[in-house]
Amino acid sequence: DSKDYDSETESVCPFCGVGCKVSLKVKDGKVKYVEGVNGPANEGRLCVKGRFGFDYIHHPHRLTKPLIRREDAPPKGLNVDPADWSTHFREATWDEALDLAARGLMKLRDEDPRSVAGFGSAKCTNEEAYLFQKFIRQGFGHNNVDHCTRLCHASSVAALIENVGSGAVTATFNEIENADVAIIIGANPIENHPVAATYFKQFAKRGGKLIVMDPRGVGMRKFATEMLQFRPGADVSMLNAIMNVIVEEELYDSQYIHRWTENWEAEKEHLRQFTPEKMAPICGIEPDQLRRVARIFANANAGLIFWGMGVSQHIHGTDNSRCLISLALMTGNVGKPGAGLHPLRGQNNVQGASDAGLIPMFLPDYQSVTDDAVRARFSRVWNSGDFSNEKGLTVTEIIDHAYAGKIKGMYILGENPAMSDPDVNHAREALAKLDLMIVQDIFLTETANYADIILPASALYEKNGTVSNTNRQVQRVRPAVPPPGEAREDWAITVDLAQRIGLNWDYTDVSQVFAEMKLTMASLDNITWERLETESITYPSLSETDPGQSIVFGDGFPRPDGRAKFTPASIIPPDEAPDEEFPMIATTGRQLEHWHTGSMTRRAKVLDAVEPEANCSMNPRTLKLMGIEPGEMVRLTTRRGSIEIMVRADRAIAEDMVFIPFAYVEAAANILTNPAIDPYGKIPEFKFSAIRVEKI
Ligand code: SF4
Repeated sequence: DSKDYDSETESVCPFCGVGCKVSLKVKDGKVKYVEGVNGPANEGRLCVKGRFGFDYIHHPHRLTKPLIRREDAPPKGLNVDPADWSTHFREATWDEALDLAARGLMKLRDEDPRSVAGFGSAKCTNEEAYLFQKFIRQGFGHNNVDHCTRLCHASSVAALIENVGSGAVTATFNEIENADVAIIIGANPIENHPVAATYFKQFAKRGGKLIVMDPRGVGMRKFATEMLQFRPGADVSMLNAIMNVIVEEELYDSQYIHRWTENWEAEKEHLRQFTPEKMAPICGIEPDQLRRVARIFANANAGLIFWGMGVSQHIHGTDNSRCLISLALMTGNVGKPGAGLHPLRGQNNVQGASDAGLIPMFLPDYQSVTDDAVRARFSRVWNSGDFSNEKGLTVTEIIDHAYAGKIKGMYILGENPAMSDPDVNHAREALAKLDLMIVQDIFLTETANYADIILPASALYEKNGTVSNTNRQVQRVRPAVPPPGEAREDWAITVDLAQRIGLNWDYTDVSQVFAEMKLTMASLDNITWERLETESITYPSLSETDPGQSIVFGDGFPRPDGRAKFTPASIIPPDEAPDEEFPMIATTGRQLEHWHTGSMTRRAKVLDAVEPEANCSMNPRTLKLMGIEPGEMVRLTTRRGSIEIMVRADRAIAEDMVFIPFAYVEAAANILTNPAIDPYGKIPEFKFSAIRVEKI
């Protein structure tokens, strides 16, 4: 009842890319209850994380004062107890901490500006992401700035920009209402995008044909017309075989291909070699099923393709996405109701942070740093000189450069590379070598264990600004409560630091940042701060009254001649094959209750109570063969390291696979993962490592 609360504030859920709108009920200065609001993506629905995962913002571990590493502190990287950090750090005033940070950054800049790099965050607002990339580009003259998109959909974005000219989705997930077939591949929306999954289930219950493709028998299989549980890493062989059938049976849409695409003949010829009979032993799917699926998709009036990290986190992640794009193009499934390409975004603002230019090769709106006219425009808007035309270093490259001693200083805002990077022991060694590390966060994360200066920041429910969800919907977030103690909003901290390193920044309100973004981002045309007060707007919005376009590219693509491109993909095996020493395959991912590196959800009472212990899953037959009972501890070892973890039985896991969630610091999955990267999207191969399992 509203009288039970002191205030109610509308904002957006801080977790996944669905972007559910929420109402936050506050009593006595604390958020007590969260309710779904009728937003465009959720229509009042929430999952367990959105509904119960909010109280981390009031956790006693919240950082409330700036901290500076003590001169007599133990070596960097030792686990710091978040409740007892005083042997490692001392409290400081904001002035002291910011002055020290600025002096350190300027010293490094004087010696070599390229010795400084920045990791921003998809947990921040669009305005904060914009300011962060500007801080590095304007402040240091180069593009060594990236964020966690590099670890999730960088390969999807690379393929989308290459072939359809834009990195965002071509259709909202709600367009499934107008589809008669949908493919969900390499994604587990019931756990990772639960509210989107409710729309997918409704679609299947209405009689829509749902085709689920995944090496794990993910929950959505219960609603599937066809379930293809293919061999891990065999995406290209399976997708090319499906497209081979479409070519051989001439099921493609010649009119669409002729009008809107290029390079079809090369694609068609390339696909002829990938017959279902030849591909079946590689991908593990019978030729009959490959043919059935090809016919279902090609004969549909409108088909959507959704994909997740199972597609993107491979050394051939870009090729996987190229195949999906080709499949949509050859069947004319882009640019009309119920059809399109939709990489399901992980974090609540990974779309917006990428749009805002928090990536080393692109300025805001994916404008290339190599384009002189683009850089000149930004320099004019920023009232400053030119900056480098060289693409900057990506997340894993920055870590490698830190390890090699070439990067000496980092400003890390809201990211946790000491948990999230592949081969995380290597990443931790690299962080320990830095001369200057500034961490801006809400908790003393594993990464903060390596910090010299820690700046206490805000949770999303304490912020003002905008975020953009997986559907391209721009929505306002608003503070329901103030940040605790002396913690501050991230944008304001970055502004103070920028002024101290000599930048001409005079923002006093976050809406001024949004106004500046609009000067260089055509995607925000017709989207105003005033409109966002009362509505969520999907970009592109064609007029001041247009709520935005849920489908794009019906009238051509943002590429030469308005044509999309087919890029043929060949089979590239995973980077490391299982062998006698490491005979099984490890894959990592999220669980319903826990979010990424666990820093938030493991401090949310309900979620932590449901899923308190580090766990992995294996097929019950494999466990039986190995003499392991569910609930026992096992040792998992790869070429990078070992962890000890409790194992569960799960029939959905293939018999030679282990699934490991990456939220648990006490058994960090990324100690095991392979840092080999996709050459285009530069995304690591989190989804395939050769592994050994031993009973302890
Ligand atoms: Fe939050 Fe995603 Fe759940 Fe919606 S589906 S409540 S955005 S975690």
